[in-house]
Amino acid sequence: MSAPPRFLNLIDGELVAAATGEVIESLDPSTATPWATYPRGSDADVEQAVSAARGAFDAWSGAPALERAAHLRRIADVMAAHGRELAETETRDNGRPIVETTTFDVPACVQMFNYFAGAADRIQGDTVNVTRASFNFTRREPLGVVGVIIPWNAPLSLLSAKVGAALCAGNTVVVKPAEESSASVLAWGALLAEAGMPPGVVNIVAGLGEEAGDALVRHADVARITFTGSTATARAIAARAGPRLAQLAFELGGKSPNIVFADADLDAAATGVSTTSIFTAGAGQTCIAGSRILIQAPVFDEMLERIEKAATNVVLGDPMDATTTMGPIVSQAQFDRVRSYLELGPKEGAELLFGGRSGAELFPAGSPLGRGYYVEPTLFRVQSNELRICREEIFGPVATVMSFDTDDEALAIANDTSYGLAAGVWTSDVKRAHRMVRDLHCGSVWVNAYRRIHWALPFGGWKDSGYGRDSGWESILENTQLKTAWIDLA
Ligand code: NAD
Repeated sequence: MSAPPRFLNLIDGELVAAATGEVIESLDPSTATPWATYPRGSDADVEQAVSAARGAFDAWSGAPALERAAHLRRIADVMAAHGRELAETETRDNGRPIVETTTFDVPACVQMFNYFAGAADRIQGDTVNVTRASFNFTRREPLGVVGVIIPWNAPLSLLSAKVGAALCAGNTVVVKPAEESSASVLAWGALLAEAGMPPGVVNIVAGLGEEAGDALVRHADVARITFTGSTATARAIAARAGPRLAQLAFELGGKSPNIVFADADLDAAATGVSTTSIFTAGAGQTCIAGSRILIQAPVFDEMLERIEKAATNVVLGDPMDATTTMGPIVSQAQFDRVRSYLELGPKEGAELLFGGRSGAELFPAGSPLGRGYYVEPTLFRVQSNELRICREEIFGPVATVMSFDTDDEALAIANDTSYGLAAGVWTSDVKRAHRMVRDLHCGSVWVNAYRRIHWALPFGGWKDSGYGRDSGWESILENTQLKTAWIDLA
């Protein structure tokens, strides 16, 4: 048997092991077997990476914008050229089916870097007419070193949005991928030499959150931390980085409502609230999962039938198989967590409409996938939004469904959550659509669509879903700091 791939950190242009030599063993979540190792970086590695990023900053930020743009385009080209291997690495590491990583993630990452390349020479300040005797203007300048901390569910996409915006604005970066899924990010780092990136502009240190992650958060030379992950970890990061006044951007979890009105195209809505939204290829491990389905009473029963049919067509299987439409949960810990909610639902009084099985129950005896972390699409009918399964982020293919009568009732239930990341609305009434967009308390609303993320559109949350934006022009501005100038003309 060949040795497992050994992925390395990227520090100052060199591919290196952790200073301690320690590694993290990564499991293939479809079979729970070790398949690769990454460095278990800690303080010393982060220190070197931040120092390299600091050292590269003057040349990178001082380069003409179009030179930075050319580098970003080369990253896009190299990602496209190596798209299949990057997608396969991510699929193997976190279990997101290959159909999604090849057709959705990698192509989107390529476009993200092209988008940020196109924006690099459009960063500009304003002139402000204050008095005739002065010339007043603003400049947008980079922040310095940006720390990028990402979770396991979509590492390449999240990396591209955050790193693309930071580099576009003239910053240098240190990336800390998740301990469950660092392989694709480290594989991407190993391609940056081919893209001609100057050493030190991008550095990657894999490791545990409380070690490498915390070292990055605490480091005095890291001007900004942009983080995607759980609300609890964001609070821990804020407590650590707050005292030194680092800038923070948090893209956190959600408990997003997906609302079907009786006047909707029910076929489109059935897909939109099931396989597009929660019974996804990534097994509902997405911050924007539409985990609370709300259906207007006259079409409730009919919609349940359609949702169940859509769920029945989901194919759980080997993520590397092109016919698989849903992969496993990423790790044993997350698998246990999702299963704990499967047990909790009925105890809280929820009615299991379908699903509920996991692991070996789902595959023929002896199948290696029986050892994997699979959970089947599961739907609970609830009578109250107060249940924990309606309030806590499950991060698996598990949804609740509830009926409502009026628009106001739908809004009240939808907004009754500590989160505020996203919402879906299914209706053919344009006035209702606009009222819903206006009145839903969250960062993104999709009408007759769901889970539509685009590099040109700002994405982020309200309330416990965080603040700051990935993608879009706003994400570039957040990676700059303003300087205001007054030149006396008198
Ligand atoms: P997490 O928030 O702990 O991990 C995300 C990243 O933060 C990882 O890279 C991790 O190493 C790092 N990290 C952890 N502790 C840190 C610390 N003290 N300082 C700096 N970095 C730190 O997520 P998790 O514990 O792996 O997942 C738990 C829950 O978070 C999930 O069940 C889900 O509800 C939520 N989640 C949300 C998203 C999202 O896209 N918004 C992604 C992953 C997880």
